[in-house]
Amino acid sequence: MSERPLMVIPQPTLKRLVVYHQWLKQLQERGRDVVSCTVLARDFKLDATQIRKDLEIAGIAGTPRVGYRIDAVIASIESLLGWTNVNDAFLAGVGNLGAALLGYERFTRQGVNIIAAFDLDPAKIGTKIHGKPVFSLTKMAPLAQRMKIKIGILTVPAPAAQTVADLMIAGGIEAIWNFAPTALQVPEPIVVESVSLASSFAVLLNQLQHQRHKTT
Ligand code: NAD
Repeated sequence: MSERPLMVIPQPTLKRLVVYHQWLKQLQERGRDVVSCTVLARDFKLDATQIRKDLEIAGIAGTPRVGYRIDAVIASIESLLGWTNVNDAFLAGVGNLGAALLGYERFTRQGVNIIAAFDLDPAKIGTKIHGKPVFSLTKMAPLAQRMKIKIGILTVPAPAAQTVADLMIAGGIEAIWNFAPTALQVPEPIVVESVSLASSFAVLLNQLQHQRHKTT
């Protein structure tokens, strides 16, 4: 657990720290120990001051003319993001997306450990998908309560999302990672983070249009 006081990290910084982390892991795998801010700035097409500021937020200071020790930066980012603290989570909706998330083993290294999944489909209930047991949705709230699960992952169809979110909250879940295209209504202090591949793709398309505009 991090010794630093809890703070709210601006979302753009948070996103960049995850990207730096992924890239630094790759550099480490290639045998690199140290990286300079200038190299990071070049690789990410960002301003070096921006990178220095982001790393400062993560409590990392470089050494002038040497740069940053990659292992120290990785450890600080992991501690700041809570990845050293693996959180158990339940997933509801074991379809295409839910099953893919169950099979993504790297999540554990990024702080999420999906320990069980829930569905309505009798053909899925009682089976294991990527080694994770699938239970009936009716078991979700009581099991979450008993196991003190605080994180729920929502991968059900949009029309079912609110009802399933309500069941998660009834079971004591405090944070919902929502993949359904629905604006969930939740009471304080429940937190929701919604993910949309469609929005991310829209950003990509918009950048492509800008590039085309620049070159014509
Ligand atoms: P899918 O139809 O393959 O799977 C849905 C699963 O949910 C099925 O197993 C179904 O039995 C189960 N289910 C239905 N109602 C349920 C309920 N009330 N409780 C528990 N389980 C229930 O769908 P999919 O392609 O995996 O998509 C799942 C969700 O993720 C959808 O809402 C979809 O729009 C969304 N999605 C989001 C993104 C994104 O970028 N966030 C990308 C793809 C899909």
